[in-house]
Formats: sequence, structure tokens, C-alpha cells
Amino acid sequence: MGTLIWFRNDLRLQDNPALYHARERGNVVAVFFICEDQWRDHDVGDNRLAFLLDCLHHLKRDLHNHRIALRVEHAAWFAEVPDRIVGLARSLNLDRVAFNEEYPLNEKKRDSRVIRACNAADIATDVYHAGTILPPGSVLTGNGDPYTVYSPFKRRWLSQVGGDALEPLGLPRRQKGQVGESSTLPERIDGADRGRVTNDFPGGEAEAQSRLADFIAGPSRSYGDDRDFPDLNGTSALSAYLSVGAISPRQCLSKAVAANRGRIGDGDPGISTWISELIWRDFYRHVIALFPHVSCGQAFRPKADQVAWRHSTTDLAAWQQGLTGYPLVDAGMRQLNETGWMHNRLRMVTAMFLSKHLLLDWRLGERYFMNKLVDGDFAANNGGWQWSASTGTDAAPYFRIFNPNTQAKRFDPEGRFIRRWVPELEEAPLRNLFNPQKYPTDGYPKPIVDHSAARQRALDAFKALKS
Ligand SMILES: Cc1cc2nc3c(=O)[nH]c(=O)nc-3n(C[C@H](O)[C@H](O)[C@H](O)COP(=O)(O)OP(=O)(O)OC[C@H]3O[C@@H](n4cnc5c(N)ncnc54)[C@H](O)[C@@H]3O)c2cc1C
Repeated sequence: MGTLIWFRNDLRLQDNPALYHARERGNVVAVFFICEDQWRDHDVGDNRLAFLLDCLHHLKRDLHNHRIALRVEHAAWFAEVPDRIVGLARSLNLDRVAFNEEYPLNEKKRDSRVIRACNAADIATDVYHAGTILPPGSVLTGNGDPYTVYSPFKRRWLSQVGGDALEPLGLPRRQKGQVGESSTLPERIDGADRGRVTNDFPGGEAEAQSRLADFIAGPSRSYGDDRDFPDLNGTSALSAYLSVGAISPRQCLSKAVAANRGRIGDGDPGISTWISELIWRDFYRHVIALFPHVSCGQAFRPKADQVAWRHSTTDLAAWQQGLTGYPLVDAGMRQLNETGWMHNRLRMVTAMFLSKHLLLDWRLGERYFMNKLVDGDFAANNGGWQWSASTGTDAAPYFRIFNPNTQAKRFDPEGRFIRRWVPELEEAPLRNLFNPQKYPTDGYPKPIVDHSAARQRALDAFKALKS
């Protein structure tokens, strides 16, 4: 008798409610399912798979130190998981299955099927909350509706946060003796090699904790000023770890609040701004949990699905390859292609460029990002894309269209970031970086669209929608 702990995007020992409470109850065995076909269908790319695999290797070692076996099973599609879980629990003589909730639609359907299959087999299921700071459904308007705008969501969130949300769980109790054997872990998933993980993102819970500690001790104080400048290492670089759950958002919040002398919504401007980003993360997760149509490839605002998006494989390819002739856009896309990560300011600039300047369907960009990002996360990625394309919750108003050259001047004033990622512009004078139309550079593409004309085209397309 004991519990099968089903790990998913919660690859950590600390502040893992499913694991912690199961160990309070008795013995546990851990399992992780590799679902290649399903993940690829969800556009998960090699960088994220390699990172996840690296984190899984670390998890196995950490669990081993707690005398907990980790079974790794292959189930190409989620549909195979329910029977496999029941079979595994029975073969290990375990009478419970425990896991932490996930919020995208396919994951929720999978979990309901697992619960039904377990019920039918007389296996108890324990479901916990761990993926956000406050659980989806707990932050509602006075009328009991979900929020669709961030600022009032944040106000309500701040009025409710406290207690458990600030008190992450510690390590589970160490097991006296290991139950069952651990699996040998693969070195690649569907061709994505673990060796692909770069020094930028070594996997594991310990690495995540040390990043958090370093960030809180240093850059967090100037986060409010530095976070928009891609050339500075002014952000935490924790997104990949949060996305596979090598660290929990509660752990991030509680460390930030401790450093902010117990304040959450105010206090140190850098730390409180960083906490606002953790609240954005919660916000988008609440959105996908409470508005399932968002998980079905639809715009949050149904009307926005009538935008007359253009079709141009040439423009799409230029954007993907960082060859648009707009230096900041190209620098961002090349950073993404080379490292699997992109600075937030550039995610907004490049996403707006695709959906507004090129008037290409934001879903093409969403898919491309998901395929490349080491931190690919459905809720944050979808939320960010729909914000940029003005199709989502609390989206940028359709007439707010970033001028990539003005953004470059403002957020990369010395051109350092652009020059790092676009070597063709290394020697070019600064004016070429901020006004490539007027001052072209040999060997670097001319802008593929004119900013003003493209802006007008986007305005017309969105205005047509209004009327
Ligand atoms: C078009 C677009 C696509 C995006 N795709 C993703 C994605 O796939 N995965 C992802 O984790 N983030 C995504 N983001 C949000 C944001 O860009 C990244 O979380 C951030 O750049 C990661 O860097 P960091 O860890 O240093 O963040 P920090 O600035 O240190 O922020 C701390 C944490 O807060 C969360 N966070 C920060 N900003 C946001 C935000 N706007 N929305 C939701 N959560 C946020 C992240 O978990 C992040 O690690 C996207 C944003 C846009 C505009």
C-alpha cells in the first residue's frame, strides 16, 4: 500500500504538495510519462524537451537521495495514460495516485479520465494545487465572474494573497526504504538530445533555487529600471524553471516578500514590480483554466477571429529568420533561434511586428515561439501573443502599434544588443540601427515593410472588424 506520485510540470521535491502529503501518509513511488506525440502536437520544441529531460535526470537523483524510485514510462498520447497509471499502481501494489493540477484543456481532460479510471479500479486519487500562487477560480469579481482585465485581477489578488500562498512546503520526509526500482532515463526525447541544454539553462531544482537566491540578492532591486533593457541581465531568467516546475511560484513569491520586509504590493519598487510579473503569470493561467476556448486555438475575443490576416510565407520566413530589416526585431528573433530564449521586451516587439506590421495570424507566431522557447508555456505564450495581437484579455488596444525603431532607440540606446545579435550591423553607425529605411547598411536587408504604411494597414484591418 502507498501512493503513486505522478510528476508532470512540477519537477521538484520542495513545495510539491502531491509528494509532500503522500509522504506524510506513507510510502511512495514516482512516475513520469513521456508523451512525445502529444507534446509535439502541442508544438513543444527541442529546447524545452531537452531542458525538461535534464530536469528529469536531476529529479531522479534528488528522489533517489530520498529513497524514492522514479519510473519513467512512454505513452505517446495522453489517451494512453489512464490505463497505464492504473496498471502501474496495481503492479506496485499502491492504492492511491496523487498529482498536482494542470490547467490547459487537454491536460484537464486527461486528468479527469485518470480519476475515472482510478475510481473504477478502486484506487483513490488525491489532487493538489501547485501551479499558481492562488488557485484558478479563487480570484473572482464581486459577481463571481473570472477577471478578464489584469489590473482589477491584480488588486483582488493582492487583497486575497496570504497564508499558504506565502508558506511553501519544505522537503518531503525521507523514505526508510525504496519501494520498487527506478527506470533508466533516456538521453533524448523524440530526437531532442539532453546534451543540447546550454550553459544558459542547466536543469534542476538546485540550479533554480540558486538563480532565485542570486536574483533576489542582486538584480531584483533594480528590476523596475532594468527589466526592459535587453542588453542588461536585469531579469531573473527563471521562466524555464517555472515552466517545468523545477521551482514553484510560491517559493519565488515568499523569497521576494521576505526580501521586501513582508510587503507584497509595494515596498521596494524593483521587488514589487517583479511580484507583479508573478501575478501576470497567475493571471494567464487563470484565463486558460476558466476560458477553455482559449485552449482550442481560438482568440479570447471571438470577434477578433474575423481579422483578415494576410498570407505570406515569404514574410513569415523573414520574421522567423530575423531578416525583416528592422534591427531590433531581427536581433530578438536571432536571440530566440540561437538560445531558445528571448527577452520579454523583444517578445512584445517581435510579436507585434508579426501580427500588426505583417498582419499575419498571431497563431503562426505563437506556434513558432512554442517550438523554439526553452520556457515554452502554453498559458504565458498564448497570453503574450493575444496581448500583442490585440485579440486577448486586457490586450494592447489595436491602435497601439510599437514602432520597432523607436523601441530600439528607447531600450537599446547604444545599440549594444542589436550589434551582438546582428553582426551585419556591428560596424554600422547608430543612426542605421534606428532608422534603417533612411540609412541602409550594406549586407543587411532593407525593411520588408514601411512602418507607417504597415501601421495603417493594420489599423484598417482592425477598424473593419469594429464596424
Ligand atoms: C509574445 C510573448 C510570448 C511569451 N511566451 C512565454 C512563454 O512561452 N513562457 C513564459 O514563461 N513566458 C512567456 N512570456 C512572458 C515573458 O516574456 C517571460 O516570462 C519572461 O521574458 C521570462 O524571463 P524571466 O524569467 O527573466 O522573467 P522575469 O522578468 O524575471 O519574471 C519572473 C517570472 O514571471 C513570469 N512572467 C514574467 N512576465 C510574464 C508575462 N508577461 N506573462 C506571464 N508570465 C510572466 C515568468 O514566469 C517569469 O519567469 C511571453 C511574453 C510574450 C509577450
